[in-house]
Parts: sequence; structure tokens; C-alpha cells
Amino acid sequence: MTRRSAAELSPDDIEFDHTAESGQSFENALEKARDGDRLTVDDAVELLSTGTEQRGIDPHRKEQVLELADRRRAEIVGEDVTFVANLNNNVTTACNVGCLFCNFKNTAHQFEADHDGNHGGFTKTPAESRQIVDETLDLGISEVCSVSGLHPAFALDAEHHEILAGYDNPASEVNYKLPERYTTDPGTYTDQMRAMSVDDVHLHSITPEEAYHARRGTDWSYERVYSRLREAGLDTAPGTAAEILVDEVRDVVCPGKITSADWIEAMEGAMAAGLGTTATIMYGHVETEMHRAMHLKRVRDLQDRTGGIAEFVPLSFVHQNTPLYKHGVVDGGASDAEDELMIAVSRLFLDNIDNIQSSWVKYGNAKGLKLLNCGANDFMGTILSEEITKRAGGSYGEFRSVADYVDMVSAIGRTPVERSTDYQTKRPIEIDGGPYGPTLGPRADGTPMLSTEKSTDTQLSADD
Ligand code: SF4
Repeated sequence: MTRRSAAELSPDDIEFDHTAESGQSFENALEKARDGDRLTVDDAVELLSTGTEQRGIDPHRKEQVLELADRRRAEIVGEDVTFVANLNNNVTTACNVGCLFCNFKNTAHQFEADHDGNHGGFTKTPAESRQIVDETLDLGISEVCSVSGLHPAFALDAEHHEILAGYDNPASEVNYKLPERYTTDPGTYTDQMRAMSVDDVHLHSITPEEAYHARRGTDWSYERVYSRLREAGLDTAPGTAAEILVDEVRDVVCPGKITSADWIEAMEGAMAAGLGTTATIMYGHVETEMHRAMHLKRVRDLQDRTGGIAEFVPLSFVHQNTPLYKHGVVDGGASDAEDELMIAVSRLFLDNIDNIQSSWVKYGNAKGLKLLNCGANDFMGTILSEEITKRAGGSYGEFRSVADYVDMVSAIGRTPVERSTDYQTKRPIEIDGGPYGPTLGPRADGTPMLSTEKSTDTQLSADD
């Protein structure tokens, strides 16, 4: 399929080779899940759809799948609900990739020094990133998570800048423009890693898409790129930008992004470089249950080969304000029942990944908690942001305190547990009336991160 904008795309144009059909029955698939047999793609399609022979989701069958998944969760990881005390420090919103499900980016030319008008986005220098991390470490975080747009002036390092600048037409050939063209220079990827790696805080950054950007125009392997980043301070890589790992879906929702094969190659490169990873799925847009099932299989195969994926994160498509929705290509996102089944089937299918995340950013508090009874065991992180730390004492839509976690998790009868990014260190929190704060960060001492008003449900829209 040629690259098209959402305005040019009509739902009638979307025709897939992979449709939600299977040679399996729902009953057989459920029986296999109950027996703990390894599930096939056809099994997963049956469970995700509660049977392909009928239309819509059958509520009774759905409950059977959710119950099995909840039981499997209890067998594998018990009653703990984990979370990480973390900061989101995204470096730039400048991006030219144009994914049709994204409302995070701002077209990169708007960041050029001679551009008139206010784009509302941001780019941070390495010094600014360092200052934000340094200040937030005092609040007790143990992880910095950083995912950014693909700024044309971003390069891996000085050598990469030289290679990119050597192209005849770097803007069109390798999506590169000199940093001097922009109001703010983001520095290099290695500069940013060094800047954010303060006091050995765990740095979780560089998605496969960013790694592709950090090697564009070269013949460097992903392993080499990730090794350089690791030397600069990177600890683990987020497996976002996965969307749906079937190219006929990517051709519709993110035609400018790397292919499924590239995503997998980048993940293998990260793990070959000694980095742990995570994996995601972004579902609920144009894909079918078959695509979701094929995606799960690709992630499970990758984990069979590498063993380096610590958690799987289902991300429900947040449709408001996205080109796909505004231009009528989709009329909404996944239903609650689809969200529940996605979490449940992820638990049942991914027999080699222990941790399944329920993301409060995507689902909100109420549904996020419900999903912890559908197979999920992790409830994401505190997600402090620069804006929040600057406005300490205000009202924080995009933040969950340790006390919030204690309240919410104990309300469903489970144990709140602060964890490290890689799940290797876990601290069950004793419910003793508080106050509650993080203890795993380099400067954490159990003091509450911020004394705040209650945070509220908020949904963010970018998947990466
Ligand atoms: S999803 Fe990521 S790569 Fe795609 S447009 Fe948004 S910021 Fe750019």
C-alpha cells in the first residue's frame, strides 16, 4: 500500500488478507487454556472474539476467559500488584513520521529557527534533561523513562552527524537536518543518555523506532547502536512502537514507521547488547482479532529466542484527537470487553512472560483496577513529569503517588509492591497508615514523593 494521509483514507479502502477466522472452536481453545497447553494463533483468535462463529462478544464466554486468566495470574505471580516510581522525561515532540494514531508529535519543520508561529511542542537540551532528572531524584524515583519524537537533528553521536551530513540531500534521503537549523538543539542520543543517567538511576529509553533513527543512513547493526547507548548510560529499552506487528496493519496506521521485521531485529539487537526490554501492543483501531493474535505469537517467539522481555504492555488505542478518528477511518477505540479480553488472552498466550501490565494512563483508575482481575499484575508507574515536579503542590492529572497505589491496590484485596524496572527488586508495602513513599531509587528514603491533592483519571494519547 502506498503511503497515504488519513484524509485520503476511507474505511472502504482497508482490505486485509488476515481476517478473524480460525479452524478452531471456542470450546477447544478454552479447554487448552484450562489445561495450560501452549495456545496457537487460532486458539487466541477464538478466545479474543469469544468464538468466531458468532458476531459480537458473548458475555458468559468472556467471563470464562477472564476467570482462567485471573487464575493463571495468581499461579504465576501471586497476589502482588507491582508499580515503579518513575519520571517521564521525553526529549522532543518534533517528529515527521506522521503515524495516524498519534497526537503527541508536532511536525518537525515548525521547530526550525526561521519558522513563524507557536507549535506548542518542546525540545530539551541535554543540560535541561539532566536538571529535570536531578531534581526529580530527590523525590525518590528509581526509573527515568524517556521516549521522544524522531527529531531530524537527532543523531547517535558526532560520528553519526558526520555521516548524515555527508549525504547529498540529507533531508529527503535520511530525514536529517543540521542542529543549527533549529531553535533548540536536542544534542545526540548518547549526550541525552549521559545527561539523564544521574546517580545511576535506571534509564529506560530508545524504542526500536528511535534505534532505527539512531542508525539511519549507516550500515551499523542494532546491537552496535544499543551497545553505544548502553555505554552512555542506557539500562533497558522499551518495546513500544510495536503497534501491531503485522505489516498490512502498519501500512494503514503508521506507513512511515519501521516494519515488523525491523522492530524484531532492533529488539534482538538491544538484547544482544545486554539490555533488558519490554514489549507492547497498541490495539483497538483498524486491526482484527487475527492481527492481535499474530502479534502475540511474534512476541512469544521473540521471547523464546531471547528471554529478555520483562513485561508485556497492552495499550488500548485512545482515539480522540488522532487523524484516524478525525477523518472517520475509525469511529472509536476498543470496547471494555475487548480491553478485558486483550489482557486476559495476553496472560494465557504469553506463557514465557510473567508480567502483564494494566496501564492507568490508557485505561484510567477504575478500568485499570478491573484489568488486574483479568490477568494483569502490574499497574505501571507514578509517571511524574517535568510539569508536575515544577508545580509541586498543585493538582496532578498525570501522576499516581505511592499512597494512591496503596489505596487502590489494597481496595481490591491485593498487595501493593514497589518494584525496580526489571522486576528484580521488589518491596511489598506494609499497610500501616502511612505516610507512604518510594524506597528503591538512589535518593529514596520512604518520604512521600509529593504531598498532593488526589490525582484524577487522565488519558494520554501517544503510544510512544
Ligand atoms: S507515534 Fe512516535 S514516531 Fe509516530 S508520529 Fe508519534 S512520535 Fe512520531
